[in-house]
Amino acid sequence: MKPNPEETPEGYCEDCALPCYGVLVDEGIGAYEFWGTQGFHHDYVYKSHCCNAEILDQNPCCSECGKREIEDYGLCPACCESLV
Ligand SMILES: [Zn+2]
Ligand SMILES: [Zn+2]
Repeated sequence: MKPNPEETPEGYCEDCALPCYGVLVDEGIGAYEFWGTQGFHHDYVYKSHCCNAEILDQNPCCSECGKREIEDYGLCPACCESLV
């Protein structure tokens, strides 16, 4: 089943970590033949519009230094520590 196109997810790209929205891509294997039966396999998933990567709910990078490691409050461990 094709997901509802009105439910376009938004989030952060796992690849470039920028805000992105989802585009529907078909990761199915396509046409196949199994014991003489022909079919077409679809597997619709949402991928980021920029890099075709996973869509994350949260920004995967530290909001202070941009390091790709989050401890808490959207900050990396080092920036988290400097808050204390
Ligand atoms: Zn991206
Ligand atoms: Zn940081």
